Amino acid sequence: MIGQPNLDEDIINFASDNTSGVDLEIFSVVEQAAKSSAMPYGDDVFTSKLQTITNEIFEKRVSIFPVATGSAANALALSVVCPPYGSVYCHKESHLEEDECAAPEFYIGGGKLSLLSGEKAKFSAEILRAKLEVKSPAPPVHHSPAAAVSITQATEIGSVYSIDEIAAISDVARYHRLSLHMDGARIANAIVSLGVTPAEATWKSGIDVLSLGATKNGVFAAEAVIFFDPDKAADFEFRRKRGGHLFSKHRFLSSQLLPYLEENKWLRLAENANLRAQQLGKGLQKLSQFSILHEVDTNMVFVKMPVSLADGFKRKNCLFYTWGQDEGYIFGRLVTSFNTTEKEVDRFLEIASQLAN
Ligand SMILES: *Cc1c(COP(=O)(O)O)cnc(C)c1O
Repeated sequence: MIGQPNLDEDIINFASDNTSGVDLEIFSVVEQAAKSSAMPYGDDVFTSKLQTITNEIFEKRVSIFPVATGSAANALALSVVCPPYGSVYCHKESHLEEDECAAPEFYIGGGKLSLLSGEKAKFSAEILRAKLEVKSPAPPVHHSPAAAVSITQATEIGSVYSIDEIAAISDVARYHRLSLHMDGARIANAIVSLGVTPAEATWKSGIDVLSLGATKNGVFAAEAVIFFDPDKAADFEFRRKRGGHLFSKHRFLSSQLLPYLEENKWLRLAENANLRAQQLGKGLQKLSQFSILHEVDTNMVFVKMPVSLADGFKRKNCLFYTWGQDEGYIFGRLVTSFNTTEKEVDRFLEIASQLAN
């Protein structure tokens, strides 16, 4: 067959949630889009329905803008809420800082990231307040003024900000007249973990603009920026077009996101990923050679194990990222996905217990 590489079905891949495939219902909606014609640049029924359903899900009139990657979503969203000379406050381990090749600074047009620390890849309202209140003797014109704050939900290590933590950060942001952005590459996993509504997880807790992730949770390649005050989105369309993210066949982004959001599919997919991570974490915890490093809030399990076991997993076609080494031990990150099965986790645990013996 055309373009068919050898696919190894035996691999258990916990390297990341972007190694997983695509939900087949979503696939079929994209197929429908592929079989029909539509006007370009978002003037199509998938896109208009996506806007309607997003309003329903978030219980208010919002503006949603599909883009192709999470980095584009973050950088374009921040470019609207931060002037070229401004600063965005974010965690030092955030995707913005570590994984986006200075795209936020580029799209903002020269702005900078001001880095905060804090346990579990989260910063607190107190840490933010303290940093914002540092006064320099020089007149204000010499500094980059604070313009926005960005939090990642769920974080880069799978931990979750509680609603109270977000609301407290939002209070500090409001006091200093800063916009609050949420990098929600894994927002669905966080919503499921918190057991709240999408509205409570975002604008009701003070979020102004959201990067809504979807790629890691069952679509091909689509994310979206959502402004909870549509009036604040006025120049986003121009920035998206200038940034090369206004797709001419726009319906192929919207037709991924529409079935993703409809009938709570995004939350159901994330629920599976979270449950499988629980199963994996609990299973590994029973084996004395493994120690779980962080509480499993969403779909990531961090585990310390002997180096020899990590090598054993590789030989058994079990993939995950490892780093660091500490006296014969190594750290591993296992990420489960929307389509990870109970059986797959059982098989991984079986291999783990064989290797550990
Ligand atoms: C994956 C991810 C993104 C988006 O990354 P892209 O590769 O640009 O799609 C953004 N933020 C976080 C926290 C992520 O994990």
